[in-house]
Amino acid sequence: MAIERTLSIVKPDATRKNHVGAIVARFESEGLRIAAIRKVWMSKQEAEGFYAVHAARPFFGELVEFMTSGPSVVIVLEGENAVARNRELMGATNPAQAADGTLRKLYAASIGENAVHGSDSLENATIETAYFFRGTEIF
Ligand code: ADP
Ligand code: MG
Repeated sequence: MAIERTLSIVKPDATRKNHVGAIVARFESEGLRIAAIRKVWMSKQEAEGFYAVHAARPFFGELVEFMTSGPSVVIVLEGENAVARNRELMGATNPAQAADGTLRKLYAASIGENAVHGSDSLENATIETAYFFRGTEIF
């Protein structure tokens, strides 16, 4: 296994419900280190750019509207196998299908408003991290 970095986002639904601390504490208790963290209220352009891969999906408009509905917390997580471990910790996209104890099972209300984002590959982790952070902001 290798030390990896991955991008997590605490989405606007979870920041509205005051779950930032609980989610960050969970990352740390699972051995993932906070390498960078910042609050950001995404513009329409930023949200569209971040989710450009989903631009053709029927839910794209709804997704952009949700992601711009309030502030998010963008986080770089670092640790052994961080990409896969964060995805495991998040649970399935649809909270109804997420395993017990996962962040989406605990904190998400619907498939759209699902509390957290996590990069799905090491390659995307690098791209997504650079979308929000400069190298000099990650420790
Ligand atoms: P994940 O976030 O688990 O990687 P996807 O990459 O497939 O999931 O989708 C990106 C985001 O788009 C999801 O986290 C969710 O916020 C939203 N989304 C996905 N599928 C739907 C859907 N069927 N209806 C509404 N929103 C959706
Ligand atoms: Mg995804």
